[in-house]
Amino acid sequence: CGIVGYIGPKPVVPVILEGLRRLEYRGYDSAGIAVAGGPSLNGNGVLELRRAPGKLRNLETVIADNPLHGTFGIGHTRWATHGRPTEENAHPHRDCTGSLVVVHNGIVENYLALKKELTAKGHTFVTETDTEIIAHLIEQELKELEELTQDTHAEGPSPVRPALEEAVREAVKRLTGAFAIGVLSANDPDKLVAARMGPPAVIGIGEGEFFLASDVPGILHHTRNIHFLADGEIAVLTREGVTLSDFNGNPLPLKVQRITWDP
Ligand code: GLU
Repeated sequence: CGIVGYIGPKPVVPVILEGLRRLEYRGYDSAGIAVAGGPSLNGNGVLELRRAPGKLRNLETVIADNPLHGTFGIGHTRWATHGRPTEENAHPHRDCTGSLVVVHNGIVENYLALKKELTAKGHTFVTETDTEIIAHLIEQELKELEELTQDTHAEGPSPVRPALEEAVREAVKRLTGAFAIGVLSANDPDKLVAARMGPPAVIGIGEGEFFLASDVPGILHHTRNIHFLADGEIAVLTREGVTLSDFNGNPLPLKVQRITWDP
């Protein structure tokens, strides 16, 4: 229901928790956060998750007991549509490797068909949610893109790992229903990928820091420069800036608006 993502110099946890708090009016039944950090230069970064059913203060208690430190991250407050509001079903959801996470607003209508297909390819699922299949679908697309480059480079230099946004692009083309998603991977560090088809999502452009949120009030206290993600857009947030494309990879211009109203 609520999404807040951040990449920049500040400690991410307070930015995300405060943002989620400002989106509480949307209602929710559980909350979670994923933070990536560690030796992020060559991949192999660390990705840590904390989740809790109920109010944000439950998540804060979990984090206080078991602190999180990182350089970029993503948080979510969930309004359950598929699967009970338990810790296990709270977002972010992971792929099989645990190194890739997804937060999602909306409903994936074809999730059972995709779940069946991915199960046949060896994926195992641990939650009852429609969202979990998105993480596995992106993982599968990454694997298939990697195999493609391996074929091309059979005798050449070792293959390059496909970029996260390429896999997200392939994955979202296969989803039916409604989604605003945020994705991050410990193997593709210092990057946050967002995509939209249906539920709202906004990108905040700060000074050397960039934000993702499901609605303006989640980030307006940090920046008033906002791009409203349109249906069919994918945004890639890095420490250098934000790039935008459609689901086929065609680049699109950012349309940054200055928000003059207060929530
Ligand atoms: N359909 C997803 C779930 O039940 C996302 C719900 C939401 O928008 O918060 O987990």
